[in-house]
Amino acid sequence: MSKGYFGKFGGRYVPETLVEPLNELEREFFRTLKDKRFKGELAHYFASFVGRPTGLYLAKGLSERFGGHTIYLKREDMCHTGSHKLNNAIGQVLLARRLGKTRIIAETGAGQHGVATATAAALFGLKCEVYMGTEDIRRQALNVFRMELLGTKVIPVSSGSRTLKDAINDAMRDWVTNVRDTFYVIGSVVGPYPYPLMVKEFQSVIGRETKRQILALEGRLPDYLLACVGGGSNSIGFFAPFYGDRRVKFIGLEAAGAASLAKGSIGVFHGMKTYVLQDSDGQINETHSISAGLDYPGAGPEHSMYKDTKRAEYYPITDAEALKGFKTLSECEGIIPALESAHAFAYLPQLVKRLSRRSVIAICLSGRGDKDVDTAVHKKLRDLR
Ligand SMILES: *Cc1c(COP(=O)(O)O)cnc(C)c1O
Repeated sequence: MSKGYFGKFGGRYVPETLVEPLNELEREFFRTLKDKRFKGELAHYFASFVGRPTGLYLAKGLSERFGGHTIYLKREDMCHTGSHKLNNAIGQVLLARRLGKTRIIAETGAGQHGVATATAAALFGLKCEVYMGTEDIRRQALNVFRMELLGTKVIPVSSGSRTLKDAINDAMRDWVTNVRDTFYVIGSVVGPYPYPLMVKEFQSVIGRETKRQILALEGRLPDYLLACVGGGSNSIGFFAPFYGDRRVKFIGLEAAGAASLAKGSIGVFHGMKTYVLQDSDGQINETHSISAGLDYPGAGPEHSMYKDTKRAEYYPITDAEALKGFKTLSECEGIIPALESAHAFAYLPQLVKRLSRRSVIAICLSGRGDKDVDTAVHKKLRDLR
C-alpha cells in the first residue's frame, strides 16, 4: 500500500496550501500513536466522559425472532451525546490541543457530528464554529440549539443543495484560509489523508472492545459483523480490528438513495479518491435518505478497497425497510435505534435466509433513536404493520 492510499483509493486531492498542514497533522498523529501520555488521556476521557467500554448485549428477543441465530448488539447508543461520533470528536480535539490550535471548525449534516464536536470543544475550552446547510438547519433545529447551548457558533451554508456536502465545501474553504490557528474536525472516515486513517483509529475502539467481549462471552469470534455505512466510520471502527480474521464476514448497509458503494463509480470527491454517486460528467448526484446521517454521496476510501477486494459486502436498504428495522428492534428489545443503525437491522431477514447453520452475528448499534421519533411518527409508522 503506497502512502496515503488504501489500495488505489484515498490520497490527498487538495489545494497546495493544505499540503503542509496535512503533513503536520500526519506527523503529529503518528507521534500520538506511540505516545503513552496521549493514549492515557484518550482512555481517561473515553472511560469517564464518553462512557466506555460500551456493552456487548445478547439480544435474545431479536435472536428468537430471526431463527435462533445468536445476535449481539454493540451498544454505541450508550455513548454520551447518543452515538459513536464522540469517540472521534474527543480524539481529534485532543490532537488539536496538542498542535496548539485555538479554534475548532467542523461540518455537520444531521447535527450529530456538530453536537459531538461542540461537546468536545466545550470540554477542553476551545472556540468552535460549525458549518451547516440551511436545509439541514431547518430540519434539525433541536441540534442547532444544542450546539449553541454548548457555546458553538453555527454558520449557515446556503449554496448548492444546502446540505452536508455544501457544508463540507465551506468548512474546507475556511480551513484553507485559517489553517494557522484552526483545526478541522472531520466527522467520518472521509476527506484527504490522514483523516480516513485517523478517524478509523479513534473509532476502532468499537471493534477492539467487541472482540474482547465476544471472546469472553462466546469463546469464539462472530461469523458476521453488520453495520450501517454513511461516510463509514462506525462500520470501519467495528470491522477493522477483525480485518485479519478472514472467517469473520463484514456486511455494510447503505441507504438505497445514497448507496455509493453498492451503486456508485470511482471518482475524486472531498479530497479523496473513492466510490461516489456522480453523473457521466463527474457532477455529484443529489442523494436521499430518511436518516440524515447516511445521506452522503460518497464513502470512505478504505471501504472502497474492502469492496474491490471483496473483504466486505455492501447492500442498499430502502427507507421503508429501515423503518421496519427501527420498529423491530424497538419491539423485540426495548431499544429504539437511530434510523441510521436501523439500516443494519433491516438486513437481518435477508441475511438469515442465506445462513445454513446456527451463526453468531454482531451488529453495531451506532446510535440511539430519540432524535428520530418525530420522523418515524411523521412517516406513519403504524401503516407499515
Ligand atoms: C453519523 C452517524 C452514522 C453514519 O456515519 P458513519 O461515519 O458511516 O458511521 C451512523 N449512525 C449514527 C447514529 C450516526 O450518528
